[in-house]
Amino acid sequence: MTTSKMISRRNFLKILTLASSAAAIDWKIPGALAAQIQNKKDFPIVVIGSGLGGLVSAAYLSKFGFNVTVLEQHSIPGGYATSFDRGDFTFDVSLHATVAEHAMPQMILSDLGLWAKLRVAYTPELRRIITNTFDVTLPAKDPEGVKKELSTIFPHEKKGIHTFYKEMEQVIAELWGGKRLNPSIMDTLEPLSLEQWMNRHVKDRDVKECMAIFSGYYGLPPEKINALFYAIATGEYLVHGGQYFKTRSQDLSDTLALGIESFNGIIHYNTEAETILFNKNKTIAGVKDAKGNTYPAKAVIANCPVPALINKLIPKEFLPHSFAAKARQRQASLSSFVVWLGLSSPVDHIKDYEIDLVDEGIGVTLYDNLFDGYSAPGKSTVSIMRLEPYEPWKKFEADYFNNKKEAYNKEKERIAAQFIKQVEKMLIPGLSSRIEEMEVGTPLTNVFFTGNTNGAIYGYDRNLPHLNTQTPVKGLYLASAWSHGGGYTPVMMGGRDTAKRVLKDFRSLKI
Ligand SMILES: Cc1cc2nc3c(=O)[nH]c(=O)nc-3n(C[C@H](O)[C@H](O)[C@H](O)COP(=O)(O)OP(=O)(O)OC[C@H]3O[C@@H](n4cnc5c(N)ncnc54)[C@H](O)[C@@H]3O)c2cc1C
Repeated sequence: MTTSKMISRRNFLKILTLASSAAAIDWKIPGALAAQIQNKKDFPIVVIGSGLGGLVSAAYLSKFGFNVTVLEQHSIPGGYATSFDRGDFTFDVSLHATVAEHAMPQMILSDLGLWAKLRVAYTPELRRIITNTFDVTLPAKDPEGVKKELSTIFPHEKKGIHTFYKEMEQVIAELWGGKRLNPSIMDTLEPLSLEQWMNRHVKDRDVKECMAIFSGYYGLPPEKINALFYAIATGEYLVHGGQYFKTRSQDLSDTLALGIESFNGIIHYNTEAETILFNKNKTIAGVKDAKGNTYPAKAVIANCPVPALINKLIPKEFLPHSFAAKARQRQASLSSFVVWLGLSSPVDHIKDYEIDLVDEGIGVTLYDNLFDGYSAPGKSTVSIMRLEPYEPWKKFEADYFNNKKEAYNKEKERIAAQFIKQVEKMLIPGLSSRIEEMEVGTPLTNVFFTGNTNGAIYGYDRNLPHLNTQTPVKGLYLASAWSHGGGYTPVMMGGRDTAKRVLKDFRSLKI
């Protein structure tokens, strides 16, 4: 079975509805559902994890007057949407680019009354791509410019480049216009993989590399990514432009957390949820944390990883076999290896923000090209990243968690030095002599700080349909990359989707 066939039409339509225009979403529904529930205080809700999915769910439900308690094992909110300080530098854990303004995150955050508190910066280009044979900068918010740049380098593929991007724009126009053409481009793309879609337009391997450059954002190779999904997700960047939450992604998480608290929700930091508690009739009773404190709940929203739910948090006797089996069919997505560098001087000779060194398999991000003042005066902030499998790090796992990190540190420093050498050679002469601060994150760092199984950055791989928001455990819901797909936008949409599902079930007394 091809990958794209494995993604059922029903599931895709669901994703499309979630991703589609504000016009297609009735923003009044959650509020109207909440208004029909009189005795809100009888429906306490616990959210496990304050990643963006958990925060958005908690913000909606607390805004509507429910007693919401968020349990977060870390000392700050946001999961991967966080930042950390080293010397004069504040490094972003995850965010390179998302689409927020003129897209679903703006609608959700406005609906919560929080958008006005946030600022975004636009990325100066869509992407710069460097290989051993070409170096191309694709312009931002300029689909015609993208076609022109690529056609200059690949004149023999001009026609295919134009038709490929035209179809991508058509998808976005159908989505946001709320009207489908006949035949709909969405129907055409839905059964194809990205590889198959590109093959319909071009032959040259290098031009395909450029067209598929956003595959890394989704953690899968072109033959495993659904064409329609790619067209929607990448088309938003192409048309609206990549964006970054100012001053760091932490601002987004902090704004959501403060929003929850202003709606009288409670967030307990440094609090790891250990077990979900059940009543004798198998309904949810609450959550117990690692210190033995209990929090009553009619509904629990899991923003923590699904593998942790089925392997640890749900006691065996209450774990439905079908749910565990469905989850175990799926594989964790790739993890990341990141080198964050604080430099003692600006990198003045490069104006681009995100640069792919394709043959080296790494991406370089120059944050000071986003907005003035990203770094302290006279300094600059750079990160070097690649998607990383967990397998090579598994052998260090036991020692890492027993604080025996010699071999692990050696390996992480070896790779970091290799990255720095490559970037020094190809992009930033003298890089190593300008490093003032350096931090390295491996898949094990991701496990340590977020609890994500295998350090996965996008939850489960996207090659099987998403798990349902509502689990077969009455009162247990999912809102994370593991249920709604990875990335800022999908998890925020997931958070809203889950809050709505909980309200529907409360209203009909299904829980
Ligand atoms: C290096 C990197 C770069 C990325 N770049 C981008 C990008 O440019 N654009 C983009 O859109 N996406 C990017 N992503 C992906 C994106 O950050 C994630 O997919 C998304 O933030 C996941 O959100 P989530 O809601 O699933 O929660 P997570 O961020 O996974 O957070 C889960 C939270 O649950 C908490 N938790 C877990 N278990 C427990 C427990 N038992 N008790 C209490 N708390 C618990 C954790 O501490 C954590 O705070 C990147 C990710 C990484 C790592």
